[in-house]
Amino acid sequence: MNIKYAERIDRLPKYIFAAIEELKEQKRKEGVDLIPLGIGDPDLPTPGLIVEEMIKQVKDPKNQNYPTSMGEEDYREAVARWNKVRYGLDFNPATEISHVIGGKEGVANIARAFINPGDLVLCPNPGYPVYENGATKFCDGYPYLMPLTKENEFLPDLDALDSATLKKAKMMYLNYPNNPTGAIASKEYLKKVADLAEDNNFFIVFDNPYSEFTFDDYIAPTLLQISQNHVEINSSSKMFNMTGFRCGWAVGNAEIIAGLRKVKSQIDSGGSIFVQKAVIKGLNEYKSEKKPEIVAKSMKIYEERRNVLIKGLNDMGWHTETPKATFYVWTAIPKSEKTSMDFVKKLINIGVIITPGTGFGEYGEGFVRFALTQPVDKIKEALERIKTII
Ligand code: PLP
Repeated sequence: MNIKYAERIDRLPKYIFAAIEELKEQKRKEGVDLIPLGIGDPDLPTPGLIVEEMIKQVKDPKNQNYPTSMGEEDYREAVARWNKVRYGLDFNPATEISHVIGGKEGVANIARAFINPGDLVLCPNPGYPVYENGATKFCDGYPYLMPLTKENEFLPDLDALDSATLKKAKMMYLNYPNNPTGAIASKEYLKKVADLAEDNNFFIVFDNPYSEFTFDDYIAPTLLQISQNHVEINSSSKMFNMTGFRCGWAVGNAEIIAGLRKVKSQIDSGGSIFVQKAVIKGLNEYKSEKKPEIVAKSMKIYEERRNVLIKGLNDMGWHTETPKATFYVWTAIPKSEKTSMDFVKKLINIGVIITPGTGFGEYGEGFVRFALTQPVDKIKEALERIKTII
């Protein structure tokens, strides 16, 4: 038998993380104590009140059957309420909200409803790889890369997009607070993008899983506060340290939500009802745009880690800016290093695991990403080790 992958599988980029995994494994076998600052998975636990609610809800036989892929009614109502208190926006739970099995599923599946072969999708680069791959390429679409550069504060340079490209664009992915750069977008910038989309008849998928991951009293806006012709995808993963529970939501324009729901109804059977009930409990902690204690508590911890890492790097001669949001620190590699991957390999040798910028696309070259997913003492230890090779 001659088993062949579909061409879209062959269009995926080389999996650069395989080399990192191999090296890590080798170091582990050598007995090196690894400090993982690579993957963006919170090390902090899910808040107790959410876990307790889930335990209560899982015991109820009503919550043990198939869910609906668009999400339970009370879940969609809680998401609507959250959007009202957090952003001051009204959405109809019946038509303008859908559950997603984590933001990743929503980001990928939304393309299935709208992208035909050859359609152009504007994708930030460096960026969350699913925009280009799991979404655009898996629909045989064409990812048009918008470089995020330091000179442009890691925002797509809208003036650099030519009119032919803009006319062809069907959809744009945008993500602020941004992974991997930690950059934020002002309401003025979001207005410019929304106007551009309006003028050129494409819609924006505003991927916003770090909306609550903000420091120093900064409150992140959503694109939907500017225009509701688009869609926001958000999730409990980072907000409530719930990456393992796979529970998020898509909110916005009813036609876009209807398209996503159609796709999902043919592919998945929703996310566990008891998880949705527990997330409702977390969302209901919000009484205003300010973070409730269950979220603020985590953010204080990440803020301290951020400050320790930034100070440590800059004391070594780095010029790393302090991010206002996310739990990532994006920084240029030392001038003596050729590529971000070379530098990452050197760090693995001393047991410090970080992510090369190229893991987020070609325009990530020259940078690396630290995830603040280890306690302060481990971050200090990582800094001590880095000092020995700089
Ligand atoms: N979008 C971005 C930019 C992310 O960084 C992530 C996760 O790291 C996701 C979406 C998906 O998160 P989840 O599927 O856990 O909600």
